[in-house]
Amino acid sequence: MLGFASALYVVMERAVQDHVDRELDEAAIAAARSLEEHRFGPFLLLDDLAHAFPELALIDKFFHIFGPHGQITLQSANIKSRGIPLSQTSLKAALQGHTTFETVRFHNEIPIRLLSYPIRHGDTLVNILRVGMSLRSGEDMLSRLVFVLLIGSPLAVAVSMLGGWFLAGRALRPVDSITLAAQRITGGDLTQRIHTTSKDEIGRLASTFNDMIARLEASIRQTRQFSADASHELRTPLTITKGETELALRKPRSPDTYREVLESNLEEIDRMSRIVDELLFLSRADLGEITMASVPVQLDTVVREIQSQAMVLGNERGIETILEHSEPVQVLGDEWRLRELVLNVVDNAVKYSPPGGTVQLSITTTDGRAQIVVQDHGIGIAPDEQRVIFDRFHRTDAARAHAQQGTGLGLAICKWIVETHHGTIDIDSAVGQGSRFTISLPLLSA
Ligand code: ADP
Repeated sequence: MLGFASALYVVMERAVQDHVDRELDEAAIAAARSLEEHRFGPFLLLDDLAHAFPELALIDKFFHIFGPHGQITLQSANIKSRGIPLSQTSLKAALQGHTTFETVRFHNEIPIRLLSYPIRHGDTLVNILRVGMSLRSGEDMLSRLVFVLLIGSPLAVAVSMLGGWFLAGRALRPVDSITLAAQRITGGDLTQRIHTTSKDEIGRLASTFNDMIARLEASIRQTRQFSADASHELRTPLTITKGETELALRKPRSPDTYREVLESNLEEIDRMSRIVDELLFLSRADLGEITMASVPVQLDTVVREIQSQAMVLGNERGIETILEHSEPVQVLGDEWRLRELVLNVVDNAVKYSPPGGTVQLSITTTDGRAQIVVQDHGIGIAPDEQRVIFDRFHRTDAARAHAQQGTGLGLAICKWIVETHHGTIDIDSAVGQGSRFTISLPLLSA
């Protein structure tokens, strides 16, 4: 406000002075022209002048006409200017043919602007015309401006402070609620959300914050669920091992019974180590610690080898695995992981098939991608379960009833392997009729 007020004052002051100077200049030029045209002698009487040159009479300013040595020869009826002699500076400038502007104070009080204008005949200075005008009205206007600025500036500052305080308060209120929500979340309550309807920056911040809390909540819930599932899955074999061992130790048994108990315990220990191994693998995958080779892999060879393994796996329950279609397919990736991926899916197909069932395998190039299809005629998966079987530890009730030896981690690992190879894995299944798993991977040539 101070800068603005000062600038306004300076600009107005200049404008007033420029206006006065221009008027004086115009008046002087008009009067001088008259004087030059009518070739005055150096001495004139006021009445003659007024009669002969009505232009001069029209000047609303006062004027003097000085002789070439600065002595006064004529002045307007307006007496105001009496007693203001021609200054040495103006006289010197007039002798050199220059006009001069000056500001003086009449009786040390009224400000007057003076213009001294030389009138020449050829090279000779004949008269010096001085036109003057009071600056009082301009000064009055400027002092009124100062008054307005003195009152107006603090008022404007006060009003803008109040307005700013009000607006900032309104704009920042949602920030307060964000802070409060954040404090409550720090206290462990992740159900907190910020309620806002505004669509501005704060509104967007609030909704981003809400999304973030929602993701955090989901992630924490998932982690808790995961820990609970992991403990549960590990506790079952531990309970079995403990129970069997305690029972065996209750009284002396035959070596065969001990052997049986130890074999059963070994089975459970195997299961636990498998769970721990798979968990470790997934945790390392989450941390990005698993390194993947990226080399050409002959996928049809991998599938053929897995078919023979599947025959061994299904041997006990008479389940046959047939390779229905195979063509040479090369992909870029990690052979060992791709083998694990196909084996997991084929192992599931065998595991969830009824005794004497068949599993069909095929590997083809479809739509420019490598496609492995594993089809079984087993228990099948209900549509709402198809979305979640890739979650860690998720096993359908039907699967639990059908096969004891699952961990619920196999498909989670499969999904991770497929995704790191830029592929997809899809299910098409009907309960009681069987499932078809389709793995699609980019071809090496692509
Ligand atoms: P699991 O060790 O239990 O087989 P997976 O992660 O490999 O764990 O599979 C998760 C679940 O998906 C299984 O428990 C089962 O419910 C279901 N599932 C997987 N493959 C099949 C299949 N071929 N037929 C029916 N259900 C399947």
